[in-house]
Amino acid sequence: MELYKLTAHELHDKLVKKEVSSVELTNALYERIDAVEDKVNAYVTLDKENALAQAAKVDAKIAAGEEIATLAGVPGAIKDNICTKGLLTTCSSKMLSNVVPIYDAHVIKNLRADETIFLGKTNMDEFAMGSTTETSYYGPTHNPWNLERVPGGSSGGSAAAIAAGEAIWTLGSDTGGSIRQPASFNGCVGIKPTYGRVSRYGCVAFASSLDQIGPITRDVTDAAIVLNTICGKDEMDSTSLDVAVPDFTKALRSDVKGLRIGLPKEYFGEGIDPEVKAEIMKAVKKYEELGAEIVEVSLPHTEYAVITYYIIAPAEASANLARYDGVRYGYRNLNATSAPEMTTMSRTEGFGLEVRRRIMLGTYVLSSGYYDAYYNKAMQVRTLIRRDFEAAFEKCDVLLTPTSPVPAYKIDGKMDPLTIYMLDVTTIPVNMAGLPGISIPCGFAKDGMPIGMQLIGKVLDEETILRAAYTFEQATEYHKVFAPLGGNK
Ligand code: GLN
Repeated sequence: MELYKLTAHELHDKLVKKEVSSVELTNALYERIDAVEDKVNAYVTLDKENALAQAAKVDAKIAAGEEIATLAGVPGAIKDNICTKGLLTTCSSKMLSNVVPIYDAHVIKNLRADETIFLGKTNMDEFAMGSTTETSYYGPTHNPWNLERVPGGSSGGSAAAIAAGEAIWTLGSDTGGSIRQPASFNGCVGIKPTYGRVSRYGCVAFASSLDQIGPITRDVTDAAIVLNTICGKDEMDSTSLDVAVPDFTKALRSDVKGLRIGLPKEYFGEGIDPEVKAEIMKAVKKYEELGAEIVEVSLPHTEYAVITYYIIAPAEASANLARYDGVRYGYRNLNATSAPEMTTMSRTEGFGLEVRRRIMLGTYVLSSGYYDAYYNKAMQVRTLIRRDFEAAFEKCDVLLTPTSPVPAYKIDGKMDPLTIYMLDVTTIPVNMAGLPGISIPCGFAKDGMPIGMQLIGKVLDEETILRAAYTFEQATEYHKVFAPLGGNK
C-alpha cells in the first residue's frame, strides 16, 4: 500500500484501527521524500529525528488506548516562513539562512497540541514574494505534474509536496494568492481563510494587512480538519478575530440546492486561457446539475486590484523588512568597516533581486510627496474593491472564478515580472477584501496540467465555500488523480 497517497482522515482511521503505526507512516513519507526530492525540491529542511520521536509518542498513546486528535501522528510540512521553535526558518532567503526561531508560531503551537508530525519546512519564493518558487535562495521547486513547469508560488514547496506524495498535509501562506495559485497548479486543495481567522503570530511578515496562513491538502475534508486546528483568537496578534470557530468538518455535506453562485464577468474576459475557461464552464454546468443557481455579477474595480496591490504590499514589505539590518537577525557582512556599511552590505547581499525590487518600490511609494499620490490612493481603491464584493454578495452566496487564468507554465525564467504579476488578477482581490477563498481541482489541460477553480465566500463564511467545494469534489474524480512526476529533467 502506498501510504503517502492517502489523506489525513483516511490515515487517522488506519492509525486508530492499528492497521499502521505513526512510526511506519512517518518512515514511509521519508522514503518517498528520498525517492523523489532530488527531482522536486519541495523542502528546505527535513527534521527526521524529531518527527520519528513524535510519531513514537503518538503510537504509545494509541497503544495505551487513549484518544488522539485527527491530525495526531499524521505527517505534514510547514512553509518556511512560519516559525518553528528549534527548527530553521529561512523564508527561502539567504538573509535568514541561519535563523532558528526561539518560539513557535500560533498555528504551530496548536498543531503541536494535536500531536501532529512535522516532516520539515517547505520551499517558497523568498519572503513569499513571487508566484513560481523560482526566487528561492535554495533553488526552484519543480511541479510534480511536469518537472519542467513551475509549481506556482509562493507556497510552491507546500503544494508540490502534496502532489508528489512528500507530505499528507501542509501549511502555506497567502498574501495575494500564494496558497490558492500553487494549489491549483498542483491539483491540490488550498484555502485562504478570512483575514483574521488565523493568527499571524510567528508568520514572518510580508504585507501584514494581507497575509494569512492556511492549509494545502489532497481533499476538502483535510482542508477543513487542518483549518479547525489552526483557527482562533490569539492575543499575540491584534488582528486575529475574537469570533466563534465552527467545526468546519460539519459544513461538509453534499448540498448546493438553491445555493446562488455568482460568476463575476470581469474574471472571464480577455487573458484567460481557453482551456481554463472551458474547464471552469464545465464546473459551472456541474453545479447547475447539482441544483445551484448561477447568477452573473460584476466586480467593476477588478482591473485596479493588481496595481493597487503592488503599491500596498511592497509598502508594507519595505517597512516589515527594515528589521533585517545585519544586527538583530540573520545574515551579516563581516568585511564592512562601519555600521552603516555593514547594514547596507548585509541587505544588498542577503536579499535576492525580487525582494530588493519590492523594497525599493515600497520605499518609493511611502516617501514624502508620493505617499498621498500612491499609498493613500491605493488604500481608497482597496475600499472600492471591498465594496464591489459586498454588492456582489447581495446577489449570491459564493463567487466562482478560475484560480489562475493559466495552468502552470515553464520554468525558464523567460516570463517578465509584470506578466507574472498580472496573472494574480484572480486571487489578489480576495486578499484586498479580506475574504475567504478556496481552490479545488476542476479539470486538466490537454497537456495534463491541473486546472483549479476558486470559490470566494463572504467574510467569515468559510463554511459555505467548504460545502460548495465538498459537493463538487464528491461529484467528480479530479482530486483522485495522482501526479505522474514526469518531465525530462
Ligand atoms: N504572487 C504574489 C506576489 O508575488 C502573491 C504572493 C503571496 O501571496 N505571498 O506578491
